Amino acid sequence: MTESTTATISQSGLAEAVFEESGQNVNLCYQCMKCAAGCPISYAMDYKPAQLIHALRLGMDDLVLNSKTMWLCAACETCTTRCPQEVDVAKVMDAVKIIAVRRGIKPAIREVGCFNRAALANIKKMGRMYEVGMIVGLKMRTLALFKDMKLGMKMFMKGKLKLLPSFTGARRTWRIFQRVKTIEKKD
Ligand code: SF4
Ligand code: SF4
Repeated sequence: MTESTTATISQSGLAEAVFEESGQNVNLCYQCMKCAAGCPISYAMDYKPAQLIHALRLGMDDLVLNSKTMWLCAACETCTTRCPQEVDVAKVMDAVKIIAVRRGIKPAIREVGCFNRAALANIKKMGRMYEVGMIVGLKMRTLALFKDMKLGMKMFMKGKLKLLPSFTGARRTWRIFQRVKTIEKKD
C-alpha cells in the first residue's frame, strides 16, 4: 500500500470522491505553494492550485466545484512534478472536473464546456481532431462567430488548418467511445 492510500483522508465528501477518482490524497499537501508558483495559468485562476487543494481539505466543496481553476488548467503537469509530497495536482484537477460534470455542475467558464463538447463530438465522428469541424462546432455553441477570425485565417494561410478531414482510425476511436460508455453504465 502506498503512503497516499494510508494517510488520513479529509472528511470532505469531495476530497473523498477525488481520492476515489484519482487515487490522490489532498491531505498530504502541506501548503508549500510550489505547485502555484510553477503553474503557468495561475495568474488567470480564481484560486491557485494550492488554494484549491486547501479548500478541498477544508471541505469547501461548493467553492471548489464552482471554481474556474480546474477549467483553466492546461494539464501541463508542472504542479505535479514540483510537488514535494507527490500529490499529482494535475490528476486532482481532472478528478474535480469529472465529478463536477457527473454532478451536473456547469463549468464556471462557459466557453471551456463548449470547447470540450465540440472537441469530443468531433473526435468521436472523425476518429481524430479535425480542426475546421471543431471550430465550426465551437462557433455554433458559443455564437461568437467572428471571434479569432484573423488568427484562423493566419493558420489557414500557413497550412495549419486542413479543409478536408481524414477518417484514419475512426473505427478504432468509435470502439473506444463505446467501451467508455459501457464502463460508465456499469458505474
Ligand atoms: S497542470 Fe494545470 S494546475 Fe498544474 S501547473 Fe499545469 S496548468 Fe497549472
Ligand atoms: S506543491 Fe504539493 S505540497 Fe506544495 S502546496 Fe502544492 S500540492 Fe501542496
